[in-house]
Amino acid sequence: MCGIVGYVGHQQVVPVIIEGLRRLEYRGYDSAGIAVVDESGGMHVRRASGKLSKLEDALRLKPVEGDYGLGHTRWATHGRPTEENAHPHRSSNGRICVVHNGIIENYLELKRELQSLGHNFQSETDTEVVAHLIEESLKNESGLEAAFRATLRRLRGIYALVAMSADEPDCLVTARLGPPIVIGLGEDEYFAASDIPAVLPYTRRVFFLGDGEMAVLSRADGVRVTGIDGREIHPDIQHINWDPILAEKGGYKHFMLKEIYEQPRAVRDTTQGRVSIDTGQVFLDTMKIPEDRFRHFTDIKIAACGTAWHAALVAKYLIEELGRLPVEVDYASEFRYRNPILNPTTLMMVISQSGETADTLAALREAKDKGCHTLAVCNVQGAMMTREADCTVYTHAGPEIGVASTKAFTSQIVAAHLLALYLAQQRGTLDETMLKWHTRHLSELPVKLEKLLSGETDYEELSRAFVLSTDFLYLGRGINFPIALEGALK
Ligand code: GLU
Repeated sequence: MCGIVGYVGHQQVVPVIIEGLRRLEYRGYDSAGIAVVDESGGMHVRRASGKLSKLEDALRLKPVEGDYGLGHTRWATHGRPTEENAHPHRSSNGRICVVHNGIIENYLELKRELQSLGHNFQSETDTEVVAHLIEESLKNESGLEAAFRATLRRLRGIYALVAMSADEPDCLVTARLGPPIVIGLGEDEYFAASDIPAVLPYTRRVFFLGDGEMAVLSRADGVRVTGIDGREIHPDIQHINWDPILAEKGGYKHFMLKEIYEQPRAVRDTTQGRVSIDTGQVFLDTMKIPEDRFRHFTDIKIAACGTAWHAALVAKYLIEELGRLPVEVDYASEFRYRNPILNPTTLMMVISQSGETADTLAALREAKDKGCHTLAVCNVQGAMMTREADCTVYTHAGPEIGVASTKAFTSQIVAAHLLALYLAQQRGTLDETMLKWHTRHLSELPVKLEKLLSGETDYEELSRAFVLSTDFLYLGRGINFPIALEGALK
């Protein structure tokens, strides 16, 4: 996840963007940046890794002024959380700037193509290709809108994007396929952001861009929405009357509820681009352990703590069933003190949301010292475990604020399922029909979760009935659960 804020209007853009990014802080981030075009058409970019206050320090040191621009708080998926990888990203001539939330799956292939055309890349991110592609498309297309549209047609993956060109003042272009973009409509000022709280201080008239839609925000001409294919779209404008606290939680009562509802997206992002339902193949782009090693592993050890340990217990079932390798699950805090039997044919797996859990890291190091191949399942790019393990299978759950884990746990299980299928594929323990069956079910999971979650009221009744039945049980009134349930559902 990340936060995006784009603004075009009559106010000084820097405070508007910084305030907007602050209101999106709950989405979590590892770095931040801003790009502004000044009065004379100069593009200025300031970026910093770490907290938003670091970006503010950079802006105090080298201030910028202008009335349109874009900003971003990054949650890295491709490339470490450094200043160079922070958004906005620039094209080779420095005239185009882009911010992005999501993953461009075919970025490596696009990057190679653009490099062969002479484009110089400055970051390790997937996002940077978008800026270069727009610059390249401008050679054949007339103007930013057309070049942006041509660029979107080349992208595979998921994105919320905002881009601007120093050569087309007062204009932003934005598009969405997956992650959200909300457009705020003010008085002669327009906003594109990841979520409503960023625009609420300025306007309550908003609409969400639909999947496969793009918009042009221009001070002179207002907002125009089209499909990526060019068809005209009339957005459904809403008036938001949430209080700001509720808004931060996207209208949910608390973060945990919001994160429960984010599970379909987290699962979709974790499986996206990694399974083919046509061939039943699983692709793990970050898999650095040579394929033939998988045929020689004799066993798997998994070390984890807390929620991740529970995910490991499920992983054991999946891996043993599908990959036919014996799995032992350990509490990471005990693993290193019990002199575990490890040898070079053991695959050591660690699971950790943050990738920094001290005991799990110690277990990983212990296994490395004993010559094992190591693999981390982790949610944070560049975290310590991802640097020390031979390879990482990332979950793409985004930050989890609720203390009781929801979407982080679900996506760890999905990552384990992917891994079990990958093992089965390398070790030949599942035939093509079964591989296809599993990959199809994994791909259908987000939609199934959406359906399940849309029955919210049933669960409320169910839990009420459960409480009721236990109450009665304690009071010795003899009412049992099915009867209470029936009563509550009436
Ligand atoms: N994939 C992009 C990156 O790693 C965007 C991540 C985000 O959504 O913040 O830079």
